[in-house]
Amino acid sequence: MRIVMIGAGYVGLVSAACFADFGHDVTCVDKDCEKIAALNQYRIPIFEPDLDKLVESGVNSGRLRFGVDLSDIGEADAVFIAVGTPSRRGDGHADLSYVHAAAREIAGLLEGFTLIVTKSTVPVGTGDEVERIIKETNPEADFAVVANPEFLREGAAIRDFQHPDRIVVGTDDERAKKVMGQIYRPLYLNQAPILYTSRRTAELIKYAANAFLATKITFINEIADLAERVGANVQDVARGIGLDNRIGAKFLHAGPGYGGSCFPKDTRALSKTALDYGVQLRVVEATLTVNEIRKRTMSRKVSGALDNDIRGKTIAVLGLTFKPDTDDMREAPSIALIAGLLDFGAKVRAHDPVGMEQAKKELSDIEFCDDPYACARGADALVIVTEWRQFRALDLERIRTDMATPVIVDLRNIYRPEDVRSAGFRYESIGRA
Ligand code: NAD
Repeated sequence: MRIVMIGAGYVGLVSAACFADFGHDVTCVDKDCEKIAALNQYRIPIFEPDLDKLVESGVNSGRLRFGVDLSDIGEADAVFIAVGTPSRRGDGHADLSYVHAAAREIAGLLEGFTLIVTKSTVPVGTGDEVERIIKETNPEADFAVVANPEFLREGAAIRDFQHPDRIVVGTDDERAKKVMGQIYRPLYLNQAPILYTSRRTAELIKYAANAFLATKITFINEIADLAERVGANVQDVARGIGLDNRIGAKFLHAGPGYGGSCFPKDTRALSKTALDYGVQLRVVEATLTVNEIRKRTMSRKVSGALDNDIRGKTIAVLGLTFKPDTDDMREAPSIALIAGLLDFGAKVRAHDPVGMEQAKKELSDIEFCDDPYACARGADALVIVTEWRQFRALDLERIRTDMATPVIVDLRNIYRPEDVRSAGFRYESIGRA
């Protein structure tokens, strides 16, 4: 199959490299010239484990190329739209301007029957609008618009793409089903189920999935608050409920609140879509509110660990990205935490294994350190915000002697309280009395 991928971000680049790896012929297009120039020199503009090798092998095989123009669209069987759909300022709805612009750019270039596939996360009805835009721009075009939401997770994106739990294809068009079946055929071998639905259903599946996962995280976060008060251990509660197959063990890790490029914006957009249709999703709205408040209250937790005497103190923050194995800083809990610490008059320094370049664009008035030990040196408290592997076995003895006061606030519960306390620290974590 000949595929054009529009957007070389976390989703577009991974999808393009994986499709080329399946054996398809892929042109990945981005209007960001610097990104394309980097890719053409085998430099990957994002951090995603093993993506460099996959891109290199795709390019060397001749099946993957990068460019800024859409001239390959005439030859394509399918054009995937994988551009950003960030929150629109003001009302939280998804900003569809990039998707609509891509549809307009594609329209005039179509030759022969072509699939237009939305891989971006788009609200219900976006496929209809993309169809309308293309028909309006090029009334002669022979095409079908398909919704094919992506479920990959940053940090495990390649594995997720190659071994998906399911592939959702939203279309009623028989020709479109056939082409999509051929594109994903290599995954039949992995027995990945393809779920064919209507386009609107496929669009809603993606938002429902993200809202459900965000709700699950928020639920266990609230249980963590209660566990702290009643003298229980949230990790044991999570295990105790997660072993029930109806509940499942995943997404039950209490922490500082969810962030990232998807859950916050997608829960906001779903709630806005529902209101547009006269439906109130109260559970999703509660999740949004609880999570926002939680992210902001984490600075109070740190202050509490210093007996609320934090003005002028130095706080060392370990981990800035919204989760490990990515450089993505979008809506990371570290941002709200650090803003709160600075508001309290604390001095903040931070270290992240790969996210510091992105973090520098988001965070000012803090000092960036090259490693966890330099970060901890002379600090009054050490806060673990992202559970990078590099932070899981720190030399506690060395850190204790280097710190001004031995206080650790572990917002990811990566240490056992008894180990840290016996190493001479005051230790606070989440939901463990
Ligand atoms: P991103 O911001 O990393 O990448 C988007 C890219 O699209 C950018 O490089 C931008 O320059 C490019 N672009 C925008 N308009 C363009 C145009 N007209 N022509 C060519 N290129 C254009 O975004 P992302 O994280 O890859 O997310 C893309 C979509 O996938 C979003 O809708 C997101 O919700 C969804 N999604 C993301 C993830 C994730 O983990 N990041 C997972 C599943 C779904």
